[in-house]
Amino acid sequence: MEKKYLPIDLHCHSTYSDGAHSVREVLEMAKANGVQFQALTDHDTVDGISEAREIAKELGIKLIAGVEISVTWQKNTLIHIVGLGIDENNAQLVSELAKLRASRVERGRRIGANLAKVGIHGAFEGALALAKQPEALSRTHFNHWLIANGHAKAGKAFDKFLAPGKPGFTQQVWANLADAVAWIKQSGGVAVIAHPGRYSFTRTKLIRLIEEFKSYGGQGIEVISSAHSLQDEENIAALCRHCDLLASLGSDFHQQESYRKIRPGVNKAIPHGLNTVFPLIGIDLNSLTEIN
Ligand code: AMP
Ligand code: MN
Ligand code: MN
Ligand code: MN
Repeated sequence: MEKKYLPIDLHCHSTYSDGAHSVREVLEMAKANGVQFQALTDHDTVDGISEAREIAKELGIKLIAGVEISVTWQKNTLIHIVGLGIDENNAQLVSELAKLRASRVERGRRIGANLAKVGIHGAFEGALALAKQPEALSRTHFNHWLIANGHAKAGKAFDKFLAPGKPGFTQQVWANLADAVAWIKQSGGVAVIAHPGRYSFTRTKLIRLIEEFKSYGGQGIEVISSAHSLQDEENIAALCRHCDLLASLGSDFHQQESYRKIRPGVNKAIPHGLNTVFPLIGIDLNSLTEIN
């Protein structure tokens, strides 16, 4: 019988970027959910991978080394590209990611200055204190700080202050698409378009992105993601087939949320008939032990 869920998770975050939990906590939660293959894909960093490898070994989980790279596409559109099965010691990958991360502190200062203009003071220092390292500073940390300090209700701060067009937003130029795919590929990884359903692109625009991504050697797309509705899953599965991409899946777990349940370590199965990224990153579905 077809499996409805898979103990495979190819997208998740820890405190090395904007996740709320340490690598150990995330892996232990995934393990408790039955995970067998878990990727760590922190934003613009591979710093957590060696620690994750050790802990995964201890827990009897297969770790997939990953990263989620911030990309600016077509001048000012933010998209995310996941790299799976990368070599976290690859010199070019490490040094290029370090440059991206360095820019996060300066951007954070600009976000803080913008928020001060609408009467919210101390946001930069406050958000910085929530980040494990200054270079990990994310809009997620600002989001948490704004809520904790009563500037918005839970679930509302991001869209009120931090999204494009809102008072705290500041344009940031991240990696370009060609470079991000090249860094992933030359470090032995597979490049995957993260959570396409989140971009609110038209089908035409998404196909344009996919064609460009493929022209640089990109291969995968997340069909299953916690960011996706059932309709997104259907649309993206169809596009995945139409554009001859490899399907991927991931919880994109950052922390437990009150309004929806995300289970790190477990995802809905990839819809029938799609080719997947699994064989390229050493995942053999026949090797999975039964899960409930
Ligand atoms: P940054 O990389 O610092 O620009 O932050 C982007 C992160 O913010 C994403 O990786 C998500 O984790 C988070 N994020 C994006 N959109 C939202 C939203 N609407 N509400 C809450 N968090 C969001
Ligand atoms: Mn994030
Ligand atoms: Mn993302
Ligand atoms: Mn993510």
